[in-house]
Amino acid sequence: MMHSIPFNRPFLIGRELEYLNEVCVSGRLAGDGPFTRQVHAWIESRCSTPRALLTHSCTAALEMAALLLDIVPGDEVIMPSYTFVSTAAAFALRGAVPVFVDIRADTLNIDETLIEEAITSRTRAIVPVHYAGVSCEMDSIMSIARRHGLRVIEDAAQGVMASYRGRPLGSMGDLGAISFHETKNIVAGEGGALLVNDDALGPRAEMIREKGTDRSRFLRGEVDRYTWQEVGSSYLPSELVAALLVAQLERADAITQARMAIWNAYHEAFERTEADGRLRRPIVPDNCQHNAHMYYLILPPGRNREAVVGALRGAGVQPVSHYVPLHSSPAGMRHGRAGGDLSRTEILAQRVLRLPLWPGMQDHDVNRVIEAVTVRV
Ligand SMILES: *Cc1c(COP(=O)(O)O)cnc(C)c1O
Repeated sequence: MMHSIPFNRPFLIGRELEYLNEVCVSGRLAGDGPFTRQVHAWIESRCSTPRALLTHSCTAALEMAALLLDIVPGDEVIMPSYTFVSTAAAFALRGAVPVFVDIRADTLNIDETLIEEAITSRTRAIVPVHYAGVSCEMDSIMSIARRHGLRVIEDAAQGVMASYRGRPLGSMGDLGAISFHETKNIVAGEGGALLVNDDALGPRAEMIREKGTDRSRFLRGEVDRYTWQEVGSSYLPSELVAALLVAQLERADAITQARMAIWNAYHEAFERTEADGRLRRPIVPDNCQHNAHMYYLILPPGRNREAVVGALRGAGVQPVSHYVPLHSSPAGMRHGRAGGDLSRTEILAQRVLRLPLWPGMQDHDVNRVIEAVTVRV
């Protein structure tokens, strides 16, 4: 019996166990120790942000963003419907209304030309989501935001090591959120970070992450005791998470190269299949450098995705489909609303299929996926 090829496998690449052991032996397990400082320095340099804060997840970083921008009940936040739950949930948690805008047919990112129509007097922020590590059209989005006095929070969960016109994803909005979940490129199990690109937000961001206290200032010797200053929570992970992450970050270039080799192998192999009209390959605009986060196919209209998934499973390949558009989900219907027509979202979300891709994937497995797709799609 052939083994089945999963869509993802968390990949340990270097000194993870060594660093975890170091933390255990040190007896210093709480956060913001030496490994967390290394993580912050790496993100600040590689993601070009003045201030990075490690969090439990990208979801937590988005929740911090909503607190930091004083999002209150009734505020509207513009975002795509074609995204992961957290993009909307983090703002709905503060009582805000997610306003869903349709996506572009090429990148499946929010269609920047439709954003302005969705703006009302209650709009506070725009949350572009960089799907598959391919950037949204950030120049247009930033200029719309500036024109209307709105904040921009980049959901760059999938975007570590990717860029737009040479600028790292997550570094262009007022705030950016990245993820180190085990399904992302660089993994900590669960983990994420808030990128505080607007310097003025730095001091409050630090307090919100530390239960609303000025403990970080106390630890730097800037105040002689710390106390409750803000509404905040505990968004600060243990050193164990940071230690695992440092081992991954040290090999971030190797991880990206390994993913890119597989992505390119798929892309080349499916050129013919695309020319035959049997699938559409991902489109990466010239001004975007992607990070090979995801290889997906778009099936032709009318092709039954469940049948294709079944056929691929039969050939020992585990593809996945995602997302249920948020405007059609139970919570999305209760908390959010459509900000215009969402027909591209509805049509395309039913046609996407993600293929297996992780850095340690062997050539023979990549070839098996290629063959299965070529024969069965
Ligand atoms: C994975 C993901 C998230 C959530 O990341 P976590 O670190 O698991 O909280 C949010 N938004 C998008 C677009 C994602 O892909």
